[in-house]
Amino acid sequence: MDERFTRKERICIVGAGLVGSLLSIILGQRGYQVDLIEKRCDMRKEDIPGGRTIAMSLSHRGFEALSLVGLKDYIKQHTVAKSSRMVHLKDGTVHVQEYGRDGQAIHTINRKFINSALLDKAEATGNVNTYFESQCVNLNLDKQELELFNKQTGKCDFRQYDRIIGADGVFSKVANEIAKQEQANFERFSPEYGYKELVIPTDSENNWKLNNKVVHVWPQGHFNLVALPNTNKTFTCTLFLKLNGEISLNTLNDHKLIANFFNKHFPDVSRLIPNYCEQFMENPVSKIYSLKCAPWQYRNKVLLIGDACHAIAPFFAMGMNVGFEDCTVFESLITKLDGDLDKVFDEFSRVRKVDTDAIADLSLQNFTSLGTSDKSNYHLKWQINRLLWNKLNNDWMPLYPMIAFSSIPLAEVRRRSTLQAYLIDKIINEENPSEVTDQWIDYIHTKYIKDELEKKNAYTNGVLEA
Ligand SMILES: Cc1cc2nc3c(=O)[nH]c(=O)nc-3n(C[C@H](O)[C@H](O)[C@H](O)COP(=O)(O)OP(=O)(O)OC[C@H]3O[C@@H](n4cnc5c(N)ncnc54)[C@H](O)[C@@H]3O)c2cc1C
Repeated sequence: MDERFTRKERICIVGAGLVGSLLSIILGQRGYQVDLIEKRCDMRKEDIPGGRTIAMSLSHRGFEALSLVGLKDYIKQHTVAKSSRMVHLKDGTVHVQEYGRDGQAIHTINRKFINSALLDKAEATGNVNTYFESQCVNLNLDKQELELFNKQTGKCDFRQYDRIIGADGVFSKVANEIAKQEQANFERFSPEYGYKELVIPTDSENNWKLNNKVVHVWPQGHFNLVALPNTNKTFTCTLFLKLNGEISLNTLNDHKLIANFFNKHFPDVSRLIPNYCEQFMENPVSKIYSLKCAPWQYRNKVLLIGDACHAIAPFFAMGMNVGFEDCTVFESLITKLDGDLDKVFDEFSRVRKVDTDAIADLSLQNFTSLGTSDKSNYHLKWQINRLLWNKLNNDWMPLYPMIAFSSIPLAEVRRRSTLQAYLIDKIINEENPSEVTDQWIDYIHTKYIKDELEKKNAYTNGVLEA
């Protein structure tokens, strides 16, 4: 253990979800004494799902954080790799769009599996005590004191700490307390869309019913169906649709309406999920949330992390990855600031918020993009992007690989992708290409792109290059 970091500060992390558990390992491995408080029961002992959505996509930013605590290889062994998106058209034809290149893939992991592995690792540090069925019901920010309700005894007790970290998700109690302070700015926003999950079972021989190396998308403009492979050879299928309105999650409420809806828009579903009407009726409607807030901390003693301060819509499947990247940033600040947690708490949001705001915006934009991924213009843009990436390497990377396969700061990702999208729109408008060849790419590079990228590089002065 690094001697610089063996301060005996007592830290409480509220929320033993994905981000709180990972952060507790980082702190525990550094020698800090951590209490990890969770309102639900211990998912490793009880037969409960590990929270919402079962199948999660892990990508580069998430793996980077897991490697810090020695869990990357173990977790990777329990994932299913997906290197492309398969777009299903209504007439039964499919388009395959690779996510990256040279075998780059995102990986599906079971939420309960990864959360349980993080909890085991946290306890194994010897410095993290876990408390389940213990809910933070009140918080005194000035005294760093929590009131905890113990669900088993039905009693409350009070505990005081040197520091408190709120990793308690989008409805964070800790964030709500900070929000009561003057000049706090909290924007918790629920888009008009929600989602419902269905499961595609295995076939009669216990095999995958669809290609398991890809994410399946059935785009319909204003609503989409997405299916992710699970390690047990099933798929988790998510329907994103408006919550209210003529065709909406709340109005699809009987077998006939549901059957009509799926037969009209997603005819593949009745073949893949024989009991889709029953599943649809039984499974809950979930809302989507996006949260931007400031400040993320209170007097350098109480801090927010993960969804508690920056929940993002799931259209890039990045919330966990970004929360894990928070932990990477937090860890690097501990090193940089010699373990001075006052400074770390103060600095954290200054360096991080600009990136989480960027991915929140990009995620909302991606819903529209997913919905139009069957359109010919989408495919054309995708092709141009790919060929420019081949030609220019890191000077031109399509948006998805920048998000999923790089560590480029997310605010820089947004800046680059905005410029790239602008240039591609301009090229398509002015050139109206019918075919995309390597020679044509050379031509548009010289005519439209070279100078713009040189201007951009002069502007960023190379500092933000990947
Ligand atoms: C449909 C959908 C699909 C998604 N898919 C992906 C994906 O594929 N990849 C990806 O990277 N991200 C995905 N996400 C986002 C991801 O789920 C979240 O970003 C991630 O769970 C955030 O982790 P967290 O630990 O910050 O919060 P949470 O996972 O919400 O954990 C918070 C924890 O705090 C506990 N808690 C709350 N209040 C209290 C309290 N008062 N006292 C004690 N404990 C408390 C909760 O019980 C919970 O265990 C998806 C989200 C949705 C909605």
